[in-house]
Amino acid sequence: MTLLLTSPMAFSNIEVDALKLFAWLESKYPDVLGTPEFTSSVLRTQGYTYRHYPETDISLALFGDQFYAVGGLLGKDVISLGTIENFVAKSVTDISNIEFTLRAATCSYFVAKNIAVTRDLSTDSYLAAKLDVRVAADGTCKLLSNSLPNHDIGSFGIDFVSPVLAVPAEVKISSRPKLADMASPSSFTRTDAILLNGVKLESLGPNCFSSTDEKALCADANQPWRYDPRSGGANVILDAYFGHTEGTGLYHYHGGPAALFEQFPNIDSPVIGFAADGFPIYGSYFTDKSGTLRTANSSYVLKPGSRPSGIREPGGSYDGTFVDDYEYIAGSGDLDECNGMTVEGQYGYYVTNAYPWVLGCLKGTPDDSFSKALEPVSLPQTLMSNYTSYDTRELLTAAALISEHARDRKRNIKVFVWPVGSASREATLEDRQYMAFTPHFVTMTNTEIESLLTEMLDWIDISCPNMNSSSRTQESIRLRYLLENGGDAATLGVPCYSAGMGLVAATSETNFDTLKYIIAHETYHGIQQDLEIEACRDRREANEPNNSRWLAEGTADYVAKSVLAGMDGGLSLEQRILKDAYLDYQAGETQMSTRQGSAALLLMVKRGELDERIILDGSMFWKCETLDVYNDTNPIISNAKTSWFMIDEDTSTSPVTYKFSGAAFMR
Ligand SMILES: [Zn+2]
Repeated sequence: MTLLLTSPMAFSNIEVDALKLFAWLESKYPDVLGTPEFTSSVLRTQGYTYRHYPETDISLALFGDQFYAVGGLLGKDVISLGTIENFVAKSVTDISNIEFTLRAATCSYFVAKNIAVTRDLSTDSYLAAKLDVRVAADGTCKLLSNSLPNHDIGSFGIDFVSPVLAVPAEVKISSRPKLADMASPSSFTRTDAILLNGVKLESLGPNCFSSTDEKALCADANQPWRYDPRSGGANVILDAYFGHTEGTGLYHYHGGPAALFEQFPNIDSPVIGFAADGFPIYGSYFTDKSGTLRTANSSYVLKPGSRPSGIREPGGSYDGTFVDDYEYIAGSGDLDECNGMTVEGQYGYYVTNAYPWVLGCLKGTPDDSFSKALEPVSLPQTLMSNYTSYDTRELLTAAALISEHARDRKRNIKVFVWPVGSASREATLEDRQYMAFTPHFVTMTNTEIESLLTEMLDWIDISCPNMNSSSRTQESIRLRYLLENGGDAATLGVPCYSAGMGLVAATSETNFDTLKYIIAHETYHGIQQDLEIEACRDRREANEPNNSRWLAEGTADYVAKSVLAGMDGGLSLEQRILKDAYLDYQAGETQMSTRQGSAALLLMVKRGELDERIILDGSMFWKCETLDVYNDTNPIISNAKTSWFMIDEDTSTSPVTYKFSGAAFMR
């Protein structure tokens, strides 16, 4: 058993979350655990991420997101404590345009909630990618992805067979893969691999030579003269990442994109994905037996001479146009017939700059979850339509980071953002009726308004197929009124339970930072699920006043600030909350609302009375908990409501800093 002290450079998400979990437990149970061996790091071994406490002989360990404890008072048997999400919220990471760095063969190290924003250069649209990697109780890794990559796709002036769409997928990866007796050839009925940005890899191209139609589709993997999609002769349109779409809009690779790993490294390439048999796929670089760092070489070579030129045979020379132009000659390169090898005891596949590019076949047994015959899974999406001139990439990133915080999300969320001018007139009764509380000058053209309205209604129709026609008509009238009267929208509507519709008008006073905040805040309302459950809503309305409103607004403020602090840097979450609450209080705004609410929540978290997890993952809004648990008979709530404003300002620092006063903790 090797103990490897990991460096922060190679930290995976699960290690970031492990540090959070261990710190939380250490603050909660200092006497039970004692002092950890290393306080700023975690250790890794055999798929586990762990920390040891020598004084008590206890070890806390994560296998992916499954949490275990062992030793000391707990005894010799490993105790399973369920998933990390029962204790802390998993972090959500933007992996747009990153290169992978971790060289660890076990999938449990890659547990993460990742998002990215990808721009389809062919259609000039933006899409939010998501990849959720989990570990089940049996140790199997589960990758949930919408098949969108973490880099731009397509190309100006190039059209794929169909525009790129989010296509949800779920695959399982064995965390203990084994070599099989016989290799499995690539097949059309299964995907060969998934890369760590959630995009699938297909080894086979779709076309074979035929004398009647030169490039016929051929679903039989054994049919001869299959075009290698990477060869010029195949005329397959691939983008700079060797990817393209198929008819369903599914984006997939026909090679290992160079963008996913360092091209001029000084160490061995990282893992960039997992094959269907559970073995890792590495980038191209490895250290050979002579100690030289170099790219791995395929052992496939072009056959000498010319192809046969009878009927049903293409003739010409063996130039790599067809897969059959190559033969495998063991020992001619570094890699075996599947394009893999064992380095330091670990079998894995390597990206090569020659055929078969990534995988020639599978050395282990492919998991059934890679079968293409499976029913499609559903996975809530985050979408945006932006009519302002502000950067869609950044606005959509904010929305996606927020929505993926949800531990159990039901809704597709689409945020519509458009510009309006300055305030135009006093609101009339009619304005209020249509929720256009402050009318602004309209700056969009009629054509833009019609196009935005069409997009909104199309999305409602797709997301809420069972909506009755009179509600749809009313919604359509209201949206038209809002747009034509320059209403100052900043809301999240729920046209049906499974759809959250963000409506955000950027006024002439709304700067980019404010707009990002509003979008983040409104998107969070989309993951507060029980606010729209009728039973909870009826009780809430029958029970006013209650704390639900400020809890809804306060948590949205809290999480929006947390995400923006992560995206933009600058002030920390805590400073952002305390500063706004302090300024509000000084201005006499003392009623419990958005900023007051988030300060009250922060105080409860700092007092150790409330787990931040339920704010971050939205689970405070499950099962009417805001009514049943966080009501005024709960002393932590009543205390926080009368203490949130006990904040000291320190003007001697630059920038000015804020902290809860001692009195805030005394009560
Ligand atoms: Zn393809």
